[in-house]
Amino acid sequence: MSATLHLKGGRERSLKRLHPWIFSGGVARVEGSPGPGDTVTVVGQNGKPLALAAYSPASQIRARIWTFDPDEEVGPDLLRRRLDRAISARSGLLDPRGAPRDACRLVNAESDGLPGLVVDRYGPHLVCQITFAGVERWRAELITALQEALPWASGIYERSDAAERSKEGLEPRCGLMSGEEPPELVEITEGPCRYLVDPRKGHKTGFYLDQRESRARVAALAQGAELLNCFCYSGGFGVAALQAGAARVLNLDSSANALELAQRNAELNGLPMERFETEEGDAFKALRRLPKDGRRFDLVVLDPPKFVKSRKALTRATRGYKDINLQGFRLLRPGGRLVTFSCSGLLAADLFQKIVADAALDAGVEAQLVGRMGPGPDHPVALPFPEGAYLKGLICRVAG
Ligand code: SAH
Repeated sequence: MSATLHLKGGRERSLKRLHPWIFSGGVARVEGSPGPGDTVTVVGQNGKPLALAAYSPASQIRARIWTFDPDEEVGPDLLRRRLDRAISARSGLLDPRGAPRDACRLVNAESDGLPGLVVDRYGPHLVCQITFAGVERWRAELITALQEALPWASGIYERSDAAERSKEGLEPRCGLMSGEEPPELVEITEGPCRYLVDPRKGHKTGFYLDQRESRARVAALAQGAELLNCFCYSGGFGVAALQAGAARVLNLDSSANALELAQRNAELNGLPMERFETEEGDAFKALRRLPKDGRRFDLVVLDPPKFVKSRKALTRATRGYKDINLQGFRLLRPGGRLVTFSCSGLLAADLFQKIVADAALDAGVEAQLVGRMGPGPDHPVALPFPEGAYLKGLICRVAG
């Protein structure tokens, strides 16, 4: 007999809109004593079953919906159906024989009906990240389902070390889940570029796959341009731009390891290294210093880490965004473009645009919005789940 989660009055509404989260504040009481990840039947005030969810006693997000059909069974078959659906939706990106070094996201968590599960493909290697007690509960079944759904994969490596995991009361967990160990660095291709991905120690699962389309946009603007690639990580934007004919790239990051990988990525593409500069340091300081050194750029990419980690931190974080964008605008030549991102889910797209507008105002430049960017179709966002749309980017052109 499964446990039952009774919603407070009025809390059915978000479920009826197919939103997959139930916050602790929406729970009236829980019948039975479900452990982390156990399935609970969610009922409204009238006692009618509405959905089946996975329970997570340690988390503010107390339960996440597996299915809005209370008669569906939660278990290996449901996992397999969801995996098949996610994979077939990406069929163009998948054929291992056609494009052996392709990289893409195969499972995008809630938006693919698998809350807290990310599966990324780097060539024949899969990297999996579990950030929710619900998927963790079905870990063994998940591994089998992945092996069956992706028989061509050489192995599955786990990178469950994201910070969200601790909010679920789960310990970090990394290592081989099945099959063969990936090499230390996996080589992937993206458009005309090749990149090395570090599945063990790299950020996220090793690479910012969510910026694939934005790298192509920057490449399209790069011909003859001098680019500042700020918060460059492993050089993604810089490599794409130089490959596309940029005159020169300055890559800036606070991590020496990231910069070393950026260098290796530029070398891998046979790019002229004298035009691929790297600088280790704090972007907030470097952005202030560069104009004093007389540096100016035609393109400035700002792709910082998530500044807004909680609602409480929003005001402070907006200052951070304002500051880097202000400095970014100051570094542009007339007619130049600022390509600016925020990956903070808690910062709404319209507020981000307002911050960037204020930054231009304070920098004393007149600027137009000439493009918007976001992740590609392998990072779908389920329409009832706007929280899934964390990454937004703007291309702003300053007056010539
Ligand atoms: N643009 C990259 C992803 C950037 S991730 C890509 O497309 O792959 C954010 C990067 O910012 C990380 O590499 C991190 O090391 C760096 N970073 C974080 N804080 C920083 C700071 N204060 N100054 C400079 N770099 C910083």
